Amino acid sequence: MPRQLFVTTALPYANGNFHIGHIMEYIQADIWVRHQRMLGNAVDFCGADDTHGAPIMIAAEKAGVTPQQFVANIAAGRKQYLDGFHINFDNWHSTDGPENHELARQIYRDLRDNKDGSLIESRTIEQFFDPDKGMFLPDRFIKGECPKCHAKDQYGDNCEQCGAVYAPTDLIKPYSALSGAKPELRNSVHFFFKLSDPRCVEFLQQWTQDGKLQPEVANKIKEWFTVRTNPDGSTSEGLGDWDISRDAPYFGIEIPDAPGKYFYVWLDAPIGYLASLKNLLGQRGQDYDAYMANPELEQYHFIGKDIVTFHTLFWPATLHFSGRKTPDNIFVHGFLTVNNGEKMSKSRGTGLDPLKYLSLGMNPEWLRYYLAAKLSSRNEDIDFNADDFMARVNSDLIGKYINIASRAAGFITKRFEGKLGEVTEDGAALLHQLRSEVGTIEQFYESREYAKALRETMQLADKVNAYVDANKPWDLAKKPDQEGRLQDVCTVCIKAFRILTCYLKPVLPALATQVEAFLNIEPLNYANIVQPMATGHVIGTYQHLMQRVDIKQLDALFEAPEPIEAAQETAHPGGEAIAPTIGIDDFARIDLRIAKIVDCQAVAGSSKLLQLTLDVGELDEAGQPRLRNVFSGIASSYSPEQLVGKLTVMVANLAPRKMKFGISEGMVLAASHADEKAQPGIYVLEPFPGAQPGMRVH
Ligand SMILES: [Zn+2]
Repeated sequence: MPRQLFVTTALPYANGNFHIGHIMEYIQADIWVRHQRMLGNAVDFCGADDTHGAPIMIAAEKAGVTPQQFVANIAAGRKQYLDGFHINFDNWHSTDGPENHELARQIYRDLRDNKDGSLIESRTIEQFFDPDKGMFLPDRFIKGECPKCHAKDQYGDNCEQCGAVYAPTDLIKPYSALSGAKPELRNSVHFFFKLSDPRCVEFLQQWTQDGKLQPEVANKIKEWFTVRTNPDGSTSEGLGDWDISRDAPYFGIEIPDAPGKYFYVWLDAPIGYLASLKNLLGQRGQDYDAYMANPELEQYHFIGKDIVTFHTLFWPATLHFSGRKTPDNIFVHGFLTVNNGEKMSKSRGTGLDPLKYLSLGMNPEWLRYYLAAKLSSRNEDIDFNADDFMARVNSDLIGKYINIASRAAGFITKRFEGKLGEVTEDGAALLHQLRSEVGTIEQFYESREYAKALRETMQLADKVNAYVDANKPWDLAKKPDQEGRLQDVCTVCIKAFRILTCYLKPVLPALATQVEAFLNIEPLNYANIVQPMATGHVIGTYQHLMQRVDIKQLDALFEAPEPIEAAQETAHPGGEAIAPTIGIDDFARIDLRIAKIVDCQAVAGSSKLLQLTLDVGELDEAGQPRLRNVFSGIASSYSPEQLVGKLTVMVANLAPRKMKFGISEGMVLAASHADEKAQPGIYVLEPFPGAQPGMRVH
């Protein structure tokens, strides 16, 4: 009986293009889906943009468009990535679609009206309000110290360091990331999902600890149910209730019977999985309720380790207590680092630009192969290493696998009109051995042990290459009496290549299609590899299937943008010659100090300037901190929220200067190319960690 599967990847936030971390997750899921289809299972593979929330509302406002237009622009850019890396979603939808509005509101009503007692409660809470901006601050726009692990500069809803989920009011030393202002607490009515209800606790303990989740994930979740003592002596309780509402202005779904109140984006985002499926079924004329009512339906979500709590606590509880099917499993992967560099998280980081990769003409299947060769079922980080990438593609994929076809196919087409011969005796044993591994390979893909599947396949390729080396077709080709043997040896190679192609097909779908055309065979699957190509079967002309990775491509992929003209740059680094020599006394007259940017604002009427409020550790006569007002021409490269809270270097003894917008009391240091038109970008200086406001720069 074929299985019916509904598979999703995490919904990317629609405030930016995909980065390599998204692409890794989609490739991981796509391989699994293709594997399922090769087994004959029915899969609906759905994705969508996560469109709601204050960050998108604010970004849209900044861009001067509606939030709907903003997310539509982002959505329009998705296809080139997905097609480019052969990621074959059946549907790509949006959490702002009508299906999601309707489903989210219905799920909320079902939770509220739960027959065993409502799981929704309204409470008046104190919430941070930005007095400068005149709005309640979204979690992502309050930053501060994590109450659990004390990591600095964490967002108001969860900690990227330790994964803790908390209320913004739990943050230590909070500040508004919009204005830098110290937020005020004000009252507002909010709606809560009562996760602390004994029914929820009991259900989730069972659901998360019944053995389906990855052991390392289940163990981590266990901590969330217990009261524990933190290193600082404070205690954290078990499961807390979940605040699912936000006040207007908010881009989202309005809560039924509560005008001006919206669902927090994390309530409606996972419902977007169902909305995308519903939209897909609608396009096919299928009934969503009937589809979901199928007791055999299996539901799986691929996600990154930064959103585990949302998917293993909130999401199953939301579904279960609204009377809906819960996921069969959540597959959690780690982050991708690049050349041992910084982590690729949901909200920051590129390093390996997927579009640049494609634009350099690099084969998307190299990346699919490389990532698969590193991926396991465990929730652990993997690293993209350029040297390792080149070695695995050139030595394994091409050296061991592609070469089997290139060594054998030429003889078959040139000497035997493309006709396959008989199978040699040792060849038959080899082919039998290859075919008998199908169950092992299948099982590795099924359990997402892709690295093991590829290692096993490459070991089989080694055996085929050993057969080639033992039988030396190039020697046989020189002996007229060995014609038949030459045809048979090459036939074994081609048949072996077909089996290996089947084993690599979930990872290399485009290559497999090319091979199927060249071998003149039906699409490969696990079942039909036992039906060998008959003697006399005619194959097509071999055309080179895959190029090697060129080191120059990798250099280009990771290289910073080219300087304008190398020769000119030697005499004029950064676009200008080095200034005349000065003595140390000249330098000492300039008083450079570490300054903290305590506030930063756009300047009305100027597209160039930002207004900075700087603390260089000075006090006035009353002993109060004296802050400096500085106008800086850096608005083309920074938004105010990127700068607030950062340290920089300022010229502290520059004579105050009257400008159109006010008096500027100093100057912050920033680097730029002399020809800003040709090479744009301004880079504000930031000291190494540990420097304090007021320290002199020598
Ligand atoms: Zn933390």
